[in-house]
Amino acid sequence: MGNGVLGLSVALELARRDSRLRIAVVGPRARTGAATPAAGAMLNCFGEVTQYTDRHPAAQARFALARRALDAWPDWLARLAEDAGGTDGGRALRNSHIPGTFVLLSARSGRITDRNFEALRLALVEYGEPHEAVDPADVPGLAPRPDARPLRALYLQREGTVDARRVLAALEAAATTHGVEFWPLTATALVADNETVRGIQLDDGRMLQATTVVVAAGSMSGELAATALPPGAVPPMLHGTGLAVLTRRENAGGVTRAVRTPNRAATCGLHVLPTSGGHYVGATSVITPQLSAGPELGVAHEMLRAACEQIDRQLAAAQVTAWLCGRRPIPLDGFPLLGPSRLLHGLIFATGTYRDGFHNSPAIARCIADTLLGATPPDKDLSWFTPERPPIQTMTVSQAIDEAVIHSIDAAYEHDLRLPALLGDTHLTDGLHQRAKDFHDHLPHPIALPPEIAISQLLLPARSPGEAQHLTWLSDYLHAAHQHHRPAEYATRQASHTATP
Ligand SMILES: Cc1cc2nc3c(=O)[nH]c(=O)nc-3n(C[C@H](O)[C@H](O)[C@H](O)COP(=O)(O)OP(=O)(O)OC[C@H]3O[C@@H](n4cnc5c(N)ncnc54)[C@H](O)[C@@H]3O)c2cc1C
Repeated sequence: MGNGVLGLSVALELARRDSRLRIAVVGPRARTGAATPAAGAMLNCFGEVTQYTDRHPAAQARFALARRALDAWPDWLARLAEDAGGTDGGRALRNSHIPGTFVLLSARSGRITDRNFEALRLALVEYGEPHEAVDPADVPGLAPRPDARPLRALYLQREGTVDARRVLAALEAAATTHGVEFWPLTATALVADNETVRGIQLDDGRMLQATTVVVAAGSMSGELAATALPPGAVPPMLHGTGLAVLTRRENAGGVTRAVRTPNRAATCGLHVLPTSGGHYVGATSVITPQLSAGPELGVAHEMLRAACEQIDRQLAAAQVTAWLCGRRPIPLDGFPLLGPSRLLHGLIFATGTYRDGFHNSPAIARCIADTLLGATPPDKDLSWFTPERPPIQTMTVSQAIDEAVIHSIDAAYEHDLRLPALLGDTHLTDGLHQRAKDFHDHLPHPIALPPEIAISQLLLPARSPGEAQHLTWLSDYLHAAHQHHRPAEYATRQASHTATP
C-alpha cells in the first residue's frame, strides 16, 4: 500500500527473492504530495548524524540501519540498473549517480549546526569511514558570499546523490520485470477481521484481498493504519512538508558534487546537488499534524536565500525548471515505524522515515523481506521501531523543552535575528521557555518531543490559528496512548533510556 520508494523497494526485494509470490503495489500514478519524487536524493548516512545520534539506543539503531544502507547502495543501484535494463532507464539511472558529498560548516551556523558538525566528524572517525577534511576554498564550484563562507569542510567519499525520479522509474521497471502488478488506485481503508488483515479497500469500490499488507503510504500511512488499529496504538504520523527547486543554468559552473550543511536547528541540512544541466536546491521542512495546503513562502524564501548566500551566488541567475513539494512521513516521536503489527496478523509497516527514507530504502526493503519470509531471526535493534509502541522519548521533558528553545533561538539567529547588544537574548529565551512550559502544563500526560516537532507544536502555531487545535489533538492522542499501552510499559520504556544532553 503505497508506491513511493519504500513500497516499490519492498515489492522488488520480495519479488526477486521468491518468484511464486503474487505482489501488487497500490498507489496513484501522480503521487501528489509524495516525499520520494521531491527528494534530493542524498545517499547520506554520516551526513545525517546529529548530536543526538549516539545518545539513545533507538537513535543508534536508526544509525545502524543507515550504515547498512550505505553499504548496500552500490550493489542495489547496479542491480536496479540491470533489472531496468532494456529501457534507457538503466543508463540514465547510472549516470544520475554522483558519488561524494561535501559537508560545510558555514560562518552563518548556530550552536546546533556546530554540534552536529562535530558529532558527524567524530562518528566518521569512530567508525573508520573514509573521509577527508578539506580546505573550503578547494570545494569545486563553491561561491558563497564572503561573510557566509564555510569555516570548515569535510568530504565523505562513499556518500553521494542520485536522481530520485529516475530511481522511481527504474524501480517500477524492475518490479514489472519481476512480475509485480501495479494498481494505480488509492486505498481508503484496511480490511481486517479476527485480528487478521484481509486486504485493502480501494477508492473504485473494490476490495483487494491480501494475506499480507505492507503499509508504505508515506505521510498518509497514519490515516490508513487508523482504519484498523485502535487509537493510541501507533504514534501518529505527521507531515513534514518540504520544498525543493530544480534549476538549469546557462553559464557553466556551480558545484559538481553534493554540497550540504549538517542538519541545522529545527530543520534539515541546506543542500545544493548537481543534476544534468543544473542543480537541485533543497529543502524546507515544516512539520504539521494535519495536511498543510503547501510550503510557506517565507520558509522557501529563507532556503533559497541561504543557498545563494552560503553555497553559490550564481544560483540567483539560474532558471527554475521545477518546484518540487513532498511530505516527509514523520511519526510523533521522530522514529520510523518498521516491522509487523502486534495487533493485526499480516500487517507490516514500512514507513515513518522522515528525512532519510530514500537513503535507507534498500536496508528497509531487506529487513521487511526478511521479516515476511522468515529468512533470519528478527533484528533486535529494529524492535525499537515496532509500530505499536508508546512514543520513544530520548530525553526528559525538561531537557526536551531546553533543547526546543535552543533550536528556536539558533534558527532565528541563522535567519538573521539581530538584537541590540545591550539587550541580549535572555528575554527571548525566557519567553520561549515559558511558552513551552505552558503548553506542556496543559497536556494530560508529560511527553518529551524531539526539538523539530516540539517547535512545530509549540512555537509555529503562534503565528497560525491552529494552537488550540494542536493542543487538543496531542492531548487526545496522549489519553488514548496511555489507555492502550499499559502504564507500566509506558513508564519503563521511557525512563530507562533517558539520555543526558
Ligand atoms: C524535499 C524533500 C527532500 C528529501 N531529501 C531526502 C534525501 O536527500 N535523502 C533521503 O534519504 N531522504 C530524503 N527525503 C525523505 C524521503 O523522501 C522520504 O523519507 C522517503 O521518500 C519516504 O518514502 P515513502 O515511500 O515512505 O513515502 P512517499 O514517497 O511519500 O510515498 C508514499 C506513496 O504512497 C502513495 N499513497 C498515499 N496515500 C495512499 C493511499 N491512500 N493509497 C495508496 N497509495 C497512497 C503516495 O502517492 C506515494 O506515492 C526528502 C523528502 C523531501 C520531501
